[in-house]
Amino acid sequence: MPIKTAVIGVGYLGQHHARIYAEMDGVELVAVTDTDTNRAQEIAAKHSTTAYVDYKEILDKVQAVSIVTPTSTHFDVAMDCLRAGLDVLVEKPITVTVDEADALINEAKKQDCILQVGHLERYNPAVVALEPLIKNPRFIETERVSPFLGRATDVDVTHDLMIHDIDIITGLLGGSGVTDIKVAGAQVLSDKIDMARAWISFECGTTALLTASRIARDTRRRLKVYQGGSFILLDYQSREITRHTGAEDGLATETVPVVDCEPLKEEIMDFAHCVVNRQKPKVSGAEGREALKIVIQVSEMIRDAQDGN
Ligand code: NAD
Repeated sequence: MPIKTAVIGVGYLGQHHARIYAEMDGVELVAVTDTDTNRAQEIAAKHSTTAYVDYKEILDKVQAVSIVTPTSTHFDVAMDCLRAGLDVLVEKPITVTVDEADALINEAKKQDCILQVGHLERYNPAVVALEPLIKNPRFIETERVSPFLGRATDVDVTHDLMIHDIDIITGLLGGSGVTDIKVAGAQVLSDKIDMARAWISFECGTTALLTASRIARDTRRRLKVYQGGSFILLDYQSREITRHTGAEDGLATETVPVVDCEPLKEEIMDFAHCVVNRQKPKVSGAEGREALKIVIQVSEMIRDAQDGN
């Protein structure tokens, strides 16, 4: 029997969730829903499925959903879906507050439902290829900057961009706890934080310096890992990894092979696999909550510094 799925919210990202479910073996895209009727109908027609405006109408028709609505709605929509006993893949950030994330995690446990968070970069093939190369990193540096496009300005750049790197770093460090955070940042073009830097120390001894900005001259998405014996550079855009080690005449550089794939497809295939096999997803509600907790702390510290507190 195919898994009966639906996508709630088929805007910029949700349309791709719908496409992937529609093309996937072992899955039936039963419905798409969007509060924008025209948008719901357009995407439903594209994939020969049914459009709904109110997601509550599909709760008894499916067993698993992707929630790809604005972040401010994640909690209400996900809670309704979990209470109806559905497995949920909710886009990142999991919710607006940590208390909301905790409530979703508890409900998923109570209902024995899968709760996965859409931290897409974990499925970037370059990140997948990086994971086995990591050995007690001493220092990690990330840069995720892009020009101002006016997108996602309803949230701080920490919630929109930095959260990806926080999730990847905590994933690479096996969930090691945070011992100290220092920040710098500013609200510049929107009424939210547009650029942010965070200096985070972890219990395992690693320190990370993260930069996120939506007011940069160009787009750069990079991660550098410094560890005993090697320096590794990952470029998210070109999906390339180079590994630099010591050599007699200086540095030896090797390119690490990366198997190309569509990260969103990998993420959704992982979700479907967890639904069928009742397994814990790679990025569970707990991991999504941890990343959210850290970005909230970073944002609050930047705001306090800006307000002179
Ligand atoms: P968007 O505004 O393009 O799309 C959201 C859609 O949800 C809209 O079509 C809107 O009409 C619809 N909607 C709003 N409330 C609804 C409701 N109650 N029921 C059904 N539909 C509803 O936004 P987007 O850029 O696609 O972002 C959606 C989510 O995905 C956000 O949480 C965002 O943070 C996340 N996102 C994640 C990544 C990533 O890399 N993982 C990238 C982009 C966006």
